[in-house]
Amino acid sequence: MSEPLTSTLLGMGRDELTALVSEAGEPSYRGKQIMEAVYRQRVETLEEISTLPQGFREKLAASGVGVGAARIEQKLLSVDGTVRYLIGFGDGQSVETVWMPEGDGGEAGDGSDAGVEAESSGLVASGAEAQFPMPDSDAGLEGLLHPPQNRVRPGRSTICISSQVGCAVDCQFCLTALLGVKRNLTAGEIVGQVCAVLKDQGVSPPEDRINLVFMGMGEPFLNYENFIKASRLLVEGVGIAERRMTVSTAGIVPRIREFGEEKIRPKLAISLNAPNDELRTRLMPLNKKWNLEMLMVAAREFPLRTREWITFEYVLLGGVNDLPENAREVAELLRGLRCKVNLIALNPGPGIEFTTPSAERVAAFQNILRGAGIPAFVRRPRGRDIYAACGQLKRTVEVATSPELQLQAISPLAPEG
Ligand code: SAH
Repeated sequence: MSEPLTSTLLGMGRDELTALVSEAGEPSYRGKQIMEAVYRQRVETLEEISTLPQGFREKLAASGVGVGAARIEQKLLSVDGTVRYLIGFGDGQSVETVWMPEGDGGEAGDGSDAGVEAESSGLVASGAEAQFPMPDSDAGLEGLLHPPQNRVRPGRSTICISSQVGCAVDCQFCLTALLGVKRNLTAGEIVGQVCAVLKDQGVSPPEDRINLVFMGMGEPFLNYENFIKASRLLVEGVGIAERRMTVSTAGIVPRIREFGEEKIRPKLAISLNAPNDELRTRLMPLNKKWNLEMLMVAAREFPLRTREWITFEYVLLGGVNDLPENAREVAELLRGLRCKVNLIALNPGPGIEFTTPSAERVAAFQNILRGAGIPAFVRRPRGRDIYAACGQLKRTVEVATSPELQLQAISPLAPEG
């Protein structure tokens, strides 16, 4: 990829690929072959698309068409098995993408059964932190870094992907906000993150159960067209089922409505984070534009499919929005909605003024919601030691820049207090 590409195959759907091949005077089945190569085989170069005649590949290259594969620039492994990838694009920009391997205790945030399953297996029985089997031997680490090819297929893993370089929403507790927004990702760049991680992990949907959450850097609903296009490509090209994907929004109300009308769409998660306008505006300035009433009307009118529900995320900030009365307000707000609540104790970060509440406070909040009949789950933080957890994605190369720290487990942050 030395020359800048004028267009990339990654990001093109069936129709665009059909148009591309027919313009080149090739039969339309070549479009299907490209689709297969790019999204299923996850090739990185035109040369690898062996189903295409050499002449056609050369023609594509000569006209500036390339695969446009995302490049893994850095890979950090957490003691809990989470991997944080720094993924770079053609223009030198990069985003973070997180791999959360099997054994997930509800952090998957897939808005489906994760919390329920974790709960029944006792993983989140009490407190904010669930136990995770630690890779305590070199063999364990090695296994995580270089999974053997013919190993047992992993249970359920989750990839958390980014939709923008940075974010414009400015939530006061989120590290990504400190970056501001640099640019939107293209559909190809969004899908490219998934392809790069699947390839690196040696897994392939649908045989491997992969969940996908649009919960990385950026606000997906402020990059709506590309996000929707990427979702379709992930379903039709990569082979990830719609019900295995969840998008999270900070609450861009008009887009929530538009999203409800989409034929192919992930499930919906809404970052609530506060139960009244005063508090929410303080924590999430976008609440001035789309306040709680507007948000909740959109949520109530959202056309849910069979066995679908909305997930509300709620970041708990010690002494700020974690009081028992706040829990009661949340219960009131969500009454009668087909929904569940994912509670996330604040993941700390430099420049973030808030504190992480104790496990007891988190459990108390959860209990109040449950007492009011609202399914509430505590999400286990993943990859906090490598700044891979919710709200910690900031292209924090400075967190661990030395080569020895890369591809190596580094010790976890001290437990919050
Ligand atoms: N912009 C979208 C997608 C990001 S999802 C959205 O806001 O929904 C990231 C989730 O992590 C959001 O629910 C957000 O509220 C939460 N989050 C942000 N910063 C956090 C932090 N420091 N600790 C814990 N969760 C955080």
